[in-house]
Amino acid sequence: MQCRECVKEVGGQLTNEHLIACSGLTLQEYALRHLLPLDLLLNSDQINQVEDASAYQKPNKQTNQHLQNMIAGLCMANAMQQEGEFTVISLGVRRLEQLLWYLHSLQILGFQFRQEYFYENASHRVIAKNSLKVPSTYLPPRIVPSSAESFLQQITVLIAHIGEIHSGYLFIDFPKREDAKRVTDELAQKYQVRFKHLAASEHQDGQLMRCETLDDTSRLLDAISTLLKRIPNASERFFEKHDHATVVKELVFDSAHFITDHPDKCMNLHGGRYAMNVKVTDRIDALTGLVVDYGYLKRIVKQKIVNDLDHHNLNYVAPELSWRSSTELLSVFIWERLIEYLPGLSELQIYETSQSHCCYTGPSLQELQKHGESALLNYFSTGELGTSQLRNLLNSATYRHLKIIG
Ligand SMILES: [Zn+2]
Repeated sequence: MQCRECVKEVGGQLTNEHLIACSGLTLQEYALRHLLPLDLLLNSDQINQVEDASAYQKPNKQTNQHLQNMIAGLCMANAMQQEGEFTVISLGVRRLEQLLWYLHSLQILGFQFRQEYFYENASHRVIAKNSLKVPSTYLPPRIVPSSAESFLQQITVLIAHIGEIHSGYLFIDFPKREDAKRVTDELAQKYQVRFKHLAASEHQDGQLMRCETLDDTSRLLDAISTLLKRIPNASERFFEKHDHATVVKELVFDSAHFITDHPDKCMNLHGGRYAMNVKVTDRIDALTGLVVDYGYLKRIVKQKIVNDLDHHNLNYVAPELSWRSSTELLSVFIWERLIEYLPGLSELQIYETSQSHCCYTGPSLQELQKHGESALLNYFSTGELGTSQLRNLLNSATYRHLKIIG
């Protein structure tokens, strides 16, 4: 077999040892660069290997503060998984540099890099997994340091690992609710960085949080920028500009409604299938290749909108819709519910029938925070209703008289 990097004959098998020596690439990166399925590059004995802990040397060196901070950050990100007798930290192939940056520090604890290959029954192909691994017994007990500098180092690792920027707002889906509370309380008290609690965490006991405003995000990123820029890949994700794209998710729901005071048959209770296109325009994340994960988009729209509207009468879902649940007001209502989760929201299209639909672009999250929710929706729910001087007419003798006659 010829190595396509150094153009030398390598015998029957191309190995990671050869590739790393000749080009610095792993086998998976070589396969991606040269459009070769991993199945063709591997022998069957390299697939689904079970590893022996004796291949790992027990470390002699003591842990230090920097390592403790890194481990604390990775633990908060739920990045250190137990797999059999090993503790494993995995990242996708696009984030190999970040994994190696962890290794640079973690190797003194006995961590080693592994690229392992598995035949996945479900995907019918060989897939690669990039990890740092160590026998769990080699790890020191977890100590959480409490100095201000330690805290910033820990949350920098946490954010580099699981933080995401959407339209300038930092999102962190904390795997553990108690970490979310502890971290965001400390950020609010010591760094004036406020977070908003959002529903819809991906984790069973997790908490999805978003920096409240763009200024909160800037304050936090400024506080950790020196540390964050040291972590390979994190810079690309948090500080560099990339191309923008628009992604669209279509969801449907079946609802009934009526239009109060409509001059025609729309005043009657009627129903149908609504189709909704949710468009999000944002920077393409260099590390995920995505604007926003379609799965996240679907989860948010289902949890915040579809679950409440589907198989319901729209007029009784929320006070904002009780008067007129037109597609126009429905769009404003949906926009204000979604923008907290999708600050890149750029357009909603709501089809009431295949021939009738509404397109709406509402205020940005920043504008909404500044000016409040749309006055279009709250006429019947504000305290002002019924307070005008003209209402005195309804209390007048004439009115009482007429009312008696009527
Ligand atoms: Zn080579």
